[in-house]
Amino acid sequence: MAILDKFSLEGKIALVTGASYGIGFAIATAYAEAGATIVFNDIKQELVDKGIAAYEEKGIKAHGYVCDVTDEEQVNELIAKIEKEVGVIDILVNNAGISHINLLSDMTDEDWNHIIQTNLSSVFYCCRQAIPPMVSKRSGKIINISSMWGLSGASCEVAYSASKSGINGFTKALAKELAPSNVQVNAIACGVIDTSMNDQLTPEERKALEDEIPAGRYGTPKEIAQMVWNIVHAPEYMTGQIIGVDGGFL
Ligand code: NAP
Repeated sequence: MAILDKFSLEGKIALVTGASYGIGFAIATAYAEAGATIVFNDIKQELVDKGIAAYEEKGIKAHGYVCDVTDEEQVNELIAKIEKEVGVIDILVNNAGISHINLLSDMTDEDWNHIIQTNLSSVFYCCRQAIPPMVSKRSGKIINISSMWGLSGASCEVAYSASKSGINGFTKALAKELAPSNVQVNAIACGVIDTSMNDQLTPEERKALEDEIPAGRYGTPKEIAQMVWNIVHAPEYMTGQIIGVDGGFL
């Protein structure tokens, strides 16, 4: 048997959270092109519909659901619905996330809780529901979309940095917990990636940031998708890793 036989994603089901556009959309597209069935969610029906149409344009039939990942009950319902209507999740990509740029001293409790709920608690909610069938099958991949700011910290992004540091610790700990069950948990520490998340930067701020990146440019969602694709195809012995894709920034 060729050693690459087992790497086909035919028959696999991948849930990519927050994948109507941006990095999540690129990740889901790469998995679909490799034969996986794609499931994604977004907060509003309008965005889910737009996402489904965008996948259709690429010849992909994606299953889209409305779900706010900050809401534990909605996540539980989402995973139950996916299992009933599509099947058991083989690959979970925790991608949904938000940024927030502000001085820490100007942040409200609401701001703080919203970021931690969206970027970190959501990962807990999704993993908790998706893990039991993976453990029963002794097979599964969890990939968390983190940030280089979770490793180095970013000024005026304390909550964001803390949430992504939390994801890194979560990834390493969960990888140890699930390794005996043959479920791998890894994370990508993205550098600055060209998506709407960075739209609030002025052209001057964008240029200044680009000048700080050794590669001299922002990364693309496709490059993150390539790495996520590689992680799924990596040896099962690779788990608990925080992999940097940042143009040499860190
Ligand atoms: P994006 O274009 O803003 O996409 C984020 C996606 O998450 C959107 O579809 C968004 O939907 C969804 N989302 C946000 N809150 C949600 C919630 N409560 N429930 C469900 N979906 C929700 O950003 P992106 O750049 O692709 O970011 C994707 C991931 O990469 C995030 O985790 C981000 O932290 C990480 N990352 C990005 C960069 C970067 O430079 N772009 C760098 C490092 C890490 P709505 O539009 O409805 O909010």
